[in-house]
Amino acid sequence: MLQQHDATPAIGIDLGTTNSLISVWQDGESRLIPNALNEFLTPSVVSIDEDGAILVGRSALSRLTTHPQKTAALFKRYMGSKKKFKLDQQTFDAPELSAIVLKSLKSDAESFLGQPIRDVVISVPAYFSDEQRKQTRFAAELAGLNAVRLINEPTAASMAYGLHTQGVGRTLVFDLGGGTFDVTVLEYDLPLIEVHASAGDNYLGGEDFTQAIMKACLNEWQLNASQIAPHDMARLYDCVEQWKCQLNQQQGSHKLHWQWQDRQWEIELDERKAGEIWLPLLNRLRAPIEQVLHDARLQPQQMDHLVLVGGATKLNTIQKLVVKLFGQLPHQHLDPRTIVALGAAVHAACRLRDQNIDEVILTDVCPYTLGIATSNADRHGIFSPILERNTVVPTSRVESFTTTHVEQKAIRIAIYQGESPHVDNNILVDEFTVPVKPNGHIQSLDVRFSYDINGLLEVDVHLPDSGDSFSKVIDHSPIGLSLEQRKQSQQRLQELKVHPRDTLSNRTLQARLEKAWAQSLGDERMQIGLWLQEFEAVLVSQQEQKIQPIRLRLERFLDEMSF
Ligand code: ADP
Ligand code: MG
Repeated sequence: MLQQHDATPAIGIDLGTTNSLISVWQDGESRLIPNALNEFLTPSVVSIDEDGAILVGRSALSRLTTHPQKTAALFKRYMGSKKKFKLDQQTFDAPELSAIVLKSLKSDAESFLGQPIRDVVISVPAYFSDEQRKQTRFAAELAGLNAVRLINEPTAASMAYGLHTQGVGRTLVFDLGGGTFDVTVLEYDLPLIEVHASAGDNYLGGEDFTQAIMKACLNEWQLNASQIAPHDMARLYDCVEQWKCQLNQQQGSHKLHWQWQDRQWEIELDERKAGEIWLPLLNRLRAPIEQVLHDARLQPQQMDHLVLVGGATKLNTIQKLVVKLFGQLPHQHLDPRTIVALGAAVHAACRLRDQNIDEVILTDVCPYTLGIATSNADRHGIFSPILERNTVVPTSRVESFTTTHVEQKAIRIAIYQGESPHVDNNILVDEFTVPVKPNGHIQSLDVRFSYDINGLLEVDVHLPDSGDSFSKVIDHSPIGLSLEQRKQSQQRLQELKVHPRDTLSNRTLQARLEKAWAQSLGDERMQIGLWLQEFEAVLVSQQEQKIQPIRLRLERFLDEMSF
């Protein structure tokens, strides 16, 4: 039977360090798509279970505690690096793990929409390098998706608020996620949105706020982390995380509880006290803000809009800091955890020229300085910038250089990226040699860098004396992966067994029970063990009408026990 499909859906994906989301443009607005557990946030965690099947999301997150050797998280941090993650007997790299998450989002969307999807817009951090962007595209390809555009996360967030429809303006996007902090200044001069400047801290996020409270608790209780078993630490982590996420709603009691060695440990911790514990972290938020304002040559008061992004900006403490620093209230009526995904679908709709959105041309910045290695009489390895960090792309700039001596027969053009005056401290992007015809003089050469919106760098060298020109487009395939290796990745991923969607809620509860069992002792553990047995017994029946009531009951019990 032939099925009639809607026109190509406009799909946006936020492939986050901690959580990933997928959304679709429908009936003139962006909608989040629920996963198999009916949740919008899918933890960016991948695990392999006992029978070698892949688990993604909440079930994998539970297994991070019970089966750390078979589970991987935070892999977005390693996009663009050669790091390998070992899961049981298999190894994966960051693009492969990202592809597994993307595949899971793809199947959620396909089941929600009832049609296959292929073209998507994926968001990436504004500071992502060429290599990291290419790896993101490669991850999409591995997942059977085509990333028609990579949009910068802050740009997506501002589009979710429709700020691009308000004409001229300037927005600061403050994104504090699980493990990263990014600040970006966007300028609108429609139909253009420019990323004017961006800065951040790759090792600062909501996670650090949780860790700081854990440390403070142990201090207060005079306990040493080394005397506490990993499962008990994981339970403390969960308690603190839960307490943190409820901090805004708590009135009156601010107690944080933790069960350890037959004792209930308690600490009275309110927002003010937490603020003191977080002070060093709050101070670390200032440097990137100052840098971005400096690079954009702006004062805090010159922002027309402030946008908060990332789960950690839900904390009152963070919101107050932003108000204090900028002297104005941020936009925050949308959930800061979901707006990047919503905005990515807005952009996807723009691409498909949905009439509900004005055409927007996006420009971006080159996130780091690009230049070449030069030398003078007594110094070698000097970094001569051609395109400065935060230059709006597409862009093209030419600089003139000279040969060092009259008999010179070749010039080595070594392209570097980075912010150090010495090339040794920067990253070598590529190099090539240009032949010179000696003519008895020092010759000049013009080096032009053209950087396009997809992160392709074209280097043109022109020698006016001879009229010769040389050019090279720099587009590495992901991290030295040959076509052969890429095919292997593809093959390996295709062969992976993935847990069927319809049994995912059962698998997730099972993982949660196993985690609760690992984290408890005594009577509590015995009770959880009985539940686990009960649940595993009913699973054997394979009859959803029998399984569902038990699942719902056990989920409620675990909720009540804060597992
Ligand atoms: P990422 O962009 O890294 O994928 P998210 O935007 O999903 O991350 O943010 C995850 C972080 O947000 C976690 O550190 C989590 O603790 C924090 N978070 C989520 N909800 C809340 C809340 N209600 N209050 C405080 N922090 C929260
Ligand atoms: Mg994010």
